Amino acid sequence: MAKQEDQFKKVISHAKEYGYIFQSSEIYDGLSAVYDYAQNGVELKRNIREYWWKAMVQMHENIVGIDAAILMHPTTWKASGHVDAFNDPLIDNKDSKKRYRADVLIEDYCAKIEAKIEKEVEKAAKRFGEAFDKEQFLATNPRVKANQEKINTILSRMGKSLEKEDLADIKALIEELEIADPLTGSKNWTDVKQFNLMFGTQIGASAENATQVYLRPETAQGIFVNFLNVQKTGRMKIPFGIAQIGKAFRNEIVARQFIFRMREFEQMEMQFFIKPGTQKKWYEQWKQTRLQWHLSLGMGRDNYRFHDHEKLAHYADAAADIEFKFPFGFKELEGIHSRTDFDLSQHEQFSGKKLQYFDAEEQKSYVPYVVETSIGLDRMFLAVFANSLQEETLENGNTRTVLKIPAVLAPTKAAVLPLVKKDGLPDIARKIVDELKWNFSVTYDEKDAVGRRYRRQDAAGTPFCITVDHDTLTDNTVTIRYRDTMEQKRVKIEDLNSIIEQEVAMKNWLKDQ
Ligand code: ATP
Repeated sequence: MAKQEDQFKKVISHAKEYGYIFQSSEIYDGLSAVYDYAQNGVELKRNIREYWWKAMVQMHENIVGIDAAILMHPTTWKASGHVDAFNDPLIDNKDSKKRYRADVLIEDYCAKIEAKIEKEVEKAAKRFGEAFDKEQFLATNPRVKANQEKINTILSRMGKSLEKEDLADIKALIEELEIADPLTGSKNWTDVKQFNLMFGTQIGASAENATQVYLRPETAQGIFVNFLNVQKTGRMKIPFGIAQIGKAFRNEIVARQFIFRMREFEQMEMQFFIKPGTQKKWYEQWKQTRLQWHLSLGMGRDNYRFHDHEKLAHYADAAADIEFKFPFGFKELEGIHSRTDFDLSQHEQFSGKKLQYFDAEEQKSYVPYVVETSIGLDRMFLAVFANSLQEETLENGNTRTVLKIPAVLAPTKAAVLPLVKKDGLPDIARKIVDELKWNFSVTYDEKDAVGRRYRRQDAAGTPFCITVDHDTLTDNTVTIRYRDTMEQKRVKIEDLNSIIEQEVAMKNWLKDQ
């Protein structure tokens, strides 16, 4: 646990030190669970956004994008169920006066048991060496099986009680498991209450005429209310999708996990409209398609797993998360939900407008079913950033800190470095920058010895360093150094563009999915 916490602390301080993420309004001591993206962070975020948009919209003939407003007619949120049911169960500790999400306390308890299982697996893997069969070990080791059983029983009971809104049982579960306040160890808990996560505000000049509106808690509803507009004006035929990237706001109670759980965050969502009855097929297909998208970044298959939901949201008939191994354990990165015709039917009912599709093949109209893929852009950022930050021991015994962001997403693709600040080398380096910057974001750096500059670029996540030296003056070649392997090659200046292009082109990353 302590190792994980240390690693997470390193991630947070590195993100600040290298201009990725700052706390919001830091000079006023910050605002809890709100963050600003800094000069490098904004580029990484933009690249992730583009990587998603290309894969989801540009590469799919039957998916188009929109950008709906954050403020929507308040009835939207009545229809969607958010006014009545977008709640988290919260519990207060009477001694520490700290507030927690009751379900998160229980999940964290289970995560601790899971950590024990992982330890057993690690130990056994060491003991058995090559012959180790993980699946078999998980299925047969009595201690592991008992612990897994325990987790399943707890989560299943929690799921059922939340479904039934049986908050007394949630409290009973916390007491039975003897869960203590993680900060103080106190077990003196209040009852569990529901808390609505939407931020409300008012539109209108005077108090009497003001209308209560909400900052959208998800981008999906902006897609549903525009379903027919897009279908008609885009002449879309089912199955088709509408995608959107935009801000969402939730008044989160547990807000101590950096950009994993924010009060203002960004979602990348796609609603796929389908014929009723085909949802199972599309749900499975989108689960696989989305997993492949993640895997295309090369961050390791073992870092991802599916978690199928026991407790389904009020709108879903199947739901799964793609979980990622964050520094604090496996947690939800993306949700894939089979939302049935719930949303469109609700909007039909509340608006009195028909939201149906005429199926020319079937010669009938129906309310389409929807399969949704929904990923937090900020969580994706954290997944990439945390996974990329590595400390390596080199052959000479020194260590280096390196941020191995997949080259396709790296904020700065190349740094151009004159070996010395004289003999015309800076001029050549500047010329290279001027040429490359048409295609890539590049930087120029002449301060300090070249070895220190390499280290600086390693830690900032720049995948290529291009060094101009005295040989360049005679043969027009430079050294290109690869961040991940530290390999150095001599190449012609005129080839730089195509070498970098080959390494960073989204096409090359996405097409092998
Ligand atoms: P959680 O269980 O972690 O609260 P959720 O199930 O409520 O998440 P969804 O409503 O399915 O999340 O939202 C889709 C995606 O939006 C999530 O997979 C996550 O990546 C992202 N997301 C949700 N809430 C937040 C938040 N507060 N901060 C950052 N990202 C978020």
